[in-house]
Amino acid sequence: MASSNHCSFCRKNPGICICSGCRAYFCDDHFKDHRGMLANELDGLTTERDVIQEKISKAISHRQSAGSLLSRIDEWQRTTIEKVKEAAAQAREQAFQIMNLKREEITKQFEIISQELKELSDTKCVLEQDLTRLKQDIDQLNQDLEQLSQPPPAKLNVKQSEQIVWHQMIYVEQQSTDADQQRSQSGQQMQHLELAGMDADLNFRIALIKIQHSLTNEDRQQLNFIFGDDIPRVLRENGSLENSINALQATFDRLKISRTNYEYLVQALQAIQRHDCAQRLIDYARFNQEIIPPLLNWQHQQNQAETTIGSRISKSQVVASEILADLDDEDDDE
Ligand SMILES: [Zn+2]
Ligand SMILES: [Zn+2]
Repeated sequence: MASSNHCSFCRKNPGICICSGCRAYFCDDHFKDHRGMLANELDGLTTERDVIQEKISKAISHRQSAGSLLSRIDEWQRTTIEKVKEAAAQAREQAFQIMNLKREEITKQFEIISQELKELSDTKCVLEQDLTRLKQDIDQLNQDLEQLSQPPPAKLNVKQSEQIVWHQMIYVEQQSTDADQQRSQSGQQMQHLELAGMDADLNFRIALIKIQHSLTNEDRQQLNFIFGDDIPRVLRENGSLENSINALQATFDRLKISRTNYEYLVQALQAIQRHDCAQRLIDYARFNQEIIPPLLNWQHQQNQAETTIGSRISKSQVVASEILADLDDEDDDE
């Protein structure tokens, strides 16, 4: 027997069986072992298949949790429509009241005149003065009725609802729960924070400009005087808007004022008795701090992340837009 035909496992017994898969020779015992090994490997694959089946079931149940997300979107739609209906009903009621007010007045006046005509007719003691007065009353009533056919003296205000950015009112975003991915994303988060910080700086400067606009020349001159040596002397000479903006820039440059350090300006505004502007600055700076949470909070939020449904108009952003709107209104009033 050729040596190449020995069992490939024990290398001792003659290889009487050949495996058609691996082309190796085996003795009777070790051929059975070889077949057994292949059968075991197949069993292992079957076990893996069972694990996959479990994973698929889990994935399906995740899809059901997406179903709960969808039902929350439905719920948002329902409650939002409800709020719209309530607001429209309130506006209808207001329109109704305004239109009815005049109608009620006319009806009341009509009843008074009718009563008087009846009394004068019954008692037969009508005088020329009564006739003159009644004629005037009837003329007035006719004029009032004429007015009633005109559009009611009411204005419909829908400005705020036109400004709603609906696709930002509700949206769904994917967030990862994987801790490793969190770590790799932390750089991106820092970038987000920096961008948010840049926005906040811009907003802070916009708020300062708006406050400057609402100050009088005299206010600004006083303010520049209070800044004293913190600004170049030439800027203290008058309270023009241009001068004052340059003065503010100087206080920025000399690190007297920043988005996170505005107490100096608050004190100066209070000193010139513009407590309204000081308060506005405080409110503004507070909401700025709210929209940019401290880093720890930010990371905490991200770690808790999962696919969530969110309303992009957060509380702090509403406050922000309200304050900016307030400032805008004041500009409009000027
Ligand atoms: Zn084989
Ligand atoms: Zn063997």
